[in-house]
Amino acid sequence: MGTTFDVLVVGAGAAGLMAAGQAAAAGASVLVLEKMSQTARKVRISGKGRCNVTNLCPPTAVLENIPGNGRFLTGAIHKFGPEAMLDFLAAEGVPTKVERGDRVFPVSDDAHQVANALEHFAKRSGAIIRLGTAVSKLLTDATGVTGVRCGDGTVYRAAQVIVCTGGGSYPGTGSTGDGWTLAAAVGHTVTPTLPSLVPLRTKERWPTDLSGLTLRNVSVSLVSSLGRDVQFGELLFTHFGVSGPTVLTLSRSAAVWLAAGVSVDMHIDLKPALDPDVLDGRLQRDFAKYSRKQIKNGMNDLLPQALIPIVLAAADLSSEKPIHQVTKEERQALAKVLKDLRLTVAETLPLAAAIVTQGGVSVREVNPKNMESRLVPGLYLCGEVLDVDALTGGFNLQAAFAMGYAAGKAAGQRSRETT
Ligand SMILES: Cc1cc2nc3c(=O)[nH]c(=O)nc-3n(C[C@H](O)[C@H](O)[C@H](O)COP(=O)(O)OP(=O)(O)OC[C@H]3O[C@@H](n4cnc5c(N)ncnc54)[C@H](O)[C@@H]3O)c2cc1C
Repeated sequence: MGTTFDVLVVGAGAAGLMAAGQAAAAGASVLVLEKMSQTARKVRISGKGRCNVTNLCPPTAVLENIPGNGRFLTGAIHKFGPEAMLDFLAAEGVPTKVERGDRVFPVSDDAHQVANALEHFAKRSGAIIRLGTAVSKLLTDATGVTGVRCGDGTVYRAAQVIVCTGGGSYPGTGSTGDGWTLAAAVGHTVTPTLPSLVPLRTKERWPTDLSGLTLRNVSVSLVSSLGRDVQFGELLFTHFGVSGPTVLTLSRSAAVWLAAGVSVDMHIDLKPALDPDVLDGRLQRDFAKYSRKQIKNGMNDLLPQALIPIVLAAADLSSEKPIHQVTKEERQALAKVLKDLRLTVAETLPLAAAIVTQGGVSVREVNPKNMESRLVPGLYLCGEVLDVDALTGGFNLQAAFAMGYAAGKAAGQRSRETT
């Protein structure tokens, strides 16, 4: 194997394999350098091993689900959006199915099938993949990028280098933030990197007692002096605090606010469909029905059993109190807690435990048309290494594929023009 190529791709993850395949398919000689012993480790564990590979919604809706610089991806997602990704997977022999919330999974429910298809596409298009090879330096001269140096000292030359090293979450998959160091060393700005889509640790200990309990159809608000964010849906109690879809989405704001040093409170509306008067009426009916019971045994129609003592304690009510002795004021205090059960967010779990990183190489320094650096000609950056992050639902992978597609096409096209 030679050491000079048209295009080098650093990182054989979601974005890298797509970029490599596209560049090679356009006629470029492509070498992919991957530091792990296997390609696309993160894709292989994505979606709990099932890989939520994209979301079958219109491009505008994809962009709405990318709170971290979604606008930067407008062109890329319109060029290579969910429909194009489904066509790509079908052509690679990966049938897909659409589940709740338009989430797309392989019919096989096997993330390896997606990763293998990406690897196969890159190889079949002509790209060479070298595993177990970490890139430690980007080489440049006055004209732009000229190649890379690997950890073992090997130098590879190319006039175009696509950096797809991912973010900093789940470092065991190989994404350890190397791309931020590589890009910063050639002059790029790296915005502060924080976890997103990550569980939250609470100051209160009582969530531990409810570990494993999922609340459905609740409204969860996060409030700080810097803003307010609300999500409706499921909340999961864990041995350290809270998780589940509402919390993962809210964690993006929580991480930013906590990093700014302000306190963050969580308010859980356990009965968002009932306004306070309707809820009071409901309590009165339940209390009439169970008037001879102790209050802890008279709320099972309203709440999961395990949550009852927590709610009663928050309302300052003795769980042994006979229901017929509960005063109007006590009932109203209880209704108030049902509409506003509070927790204090102590911290997010660390970046290593997050699904994605928010922050990364500044998108201001990258051309959104082709992901090329505005600072170093011939250098492209795509995927989670950039300051781009999305919500759950298949949007992070879709973003990575769209960026990889744009960079790979552009690099392949350019190498054809220069040869
Ligand atoms: C547990 C988990 C589940 C997820 N589930 C989903 C999901 O179902 N749907 C979804 O849309 N998103 C999901 N995501 C997010 C999604 O997987 C990532 O956003 C996406 O993989 C990012 O793609 P990427 O190509 O930028 O980086 P990665 O896929 O992380 O690939 C980066 C590659 O670069 C390599 N690399 C790093 N440094 C170097 C170096 N110095 N030299 C050579 N190679 C290097 C790494 O080893 C890795 O192979 C999940 C993430 C996690 C952690």
